[in-house]
Amino acid sequence: MSSERIDRKSRHEISLIRAAAKINAETHVMVRDAIRPGISTQELNDIAEAHIRKSGGIPTFKGLYGFPATLCISVNDEVVHGIPNPNKILQDGDVVSIDCGTTYKGMVSDSAVTWAVGTISKDLEQLLKATEEGLLAGIAQMVPGNYLEDISGAIEDVCLKYGYGMVRNYGGHGVGRKPHEAPFIHNFRTGERGPRLEEGNVLAIEPMFNLGGDDVYTAEDEWTVITKDHLPSAHFEHTVVVTKGEPEILTLLP
Ligand code: MG
Ligand code: MG
Repeated sequence: MSSERIDRKSRHEISLIRAAAKINAETHVMVRDAIRPGISTQELNDIAEAHIRKSGGIPTFKGLYGFPATLCISVNDEVVHGIPNPNKILQDGDVVSIDCGTTYKGMVSDSAVTWAVGTISKDLEQLLKATEEGLLAGIAQMVPGNYLEDISGAIEDVCLKYGYGMVRNYGGHGVGRKPHEAPFIHNFRTGERGPRLEEGNVLAIEPMFNLGGDDVYTAEDEWTVITKDHLPSAHFEHTVVVTKGEPEILTLLP
């Protein structure tokens, strides 16, 4: 039911999500620093898994619904849920979405960044910038008293401003005790304002914008989501907590 309240985490739970998010953000930095033409997506995955485990965390995605790896790595026309592979080699001009989840003492954080490999086109630079702008616009709506739909609408407005395709089948979600909690968060308006936001709500906001059309399909590996027109896609995500004042982005990169 749309009026149902969103779960509120305790201060202790939020402190554990914050710790999970710190490991997650450090992992993104390590992966970012390793990205270059010639590296395989499997190598990036292994760097991430080693760092998460060394830090006392657990790779959230490994085994989640049967997913086989620590990172979802999605290149160019792949939108989300790409599986790392030693034969998948990054090339100059690619864009690569790195999606990482870390569980720490039972609490979960989730964040994604799309990086440029070497030098990318101006079109792709703008796609990445716009998708991150959509993420931050959505997050800015995460104040007590706003409705869930305010987040969705702010993301949609940025997507419309640039004229990009909007991925509709995937979106944000509650996060913390489990990797995916209610509510599902559309990246566009549905006409239902949904529940009001309250202090202590923890949400993963994750717009996906396409250079081309909206439509996507799932590949034969039953995981990788790909744009139908095979034009590139970008994906950015943060785990964010609603506070009395400004929203706190827990997964900010150091
Ligand atoms: Mg994610
Ligand atoms: Mg997520």
